Amino acid sequence: MPWTSERETPALSVNPPPIGAAMARGAMGRCPVCGQGRLFNGYLRVVDACESCHAPLGRMRADDAPPYFTILIAGHVLLPAVFWVEKLWQPPMWLHMAVWLPLFAIVCTLLLRPVKGATLAWMLRLGLTGDEQGAPVPAPVAPRRTPGDA
Ligand SMILES: [Zn+2]
Repeated sequence: MPWTSERETPALSVNPPPIGAAMARGAMGRCPVCGQGRLFNGYLRVVDACESCHAPLGRMRADDAPPYFTILIAGHVLLPAVFWVEKLWQPPMWLHMAVWLPLFAIVCTLLLRPVKGATLAWMLRLGLTGDEQGAPVPAPVAPRRTPGDA
């Protein structure tokens, strides 16, 4: 069967927006479908469903794609600056580590959420809604504590 971006049985009852608009909405932390509801409940936790259009956003699993894209972008933005500073001033390695490692951590932390939002929007636009591999994975349940537990 040839691969198509259109699903045979669409999971959403609304037409998704163009990919650029969807990714921009996702990057801004908004529902990629309607642009109104929140996409995240916290830093990176995706809401179960959009509060506005009820799109089942929580079923999508981006897994390692957002960190991969985040590291890719941060590396391409910061590594030229690292090489430029090294070529101009040749600072000691401890100074490189003291400056660049925290800067990489800060940039990656700031980029991860919008990149995850854009990745989820891209997945939604491709029709990857989370039901490709069966039923959605249930949320972990915290173990119950009894008074006798240490
Ligand atoms: Zn929505």
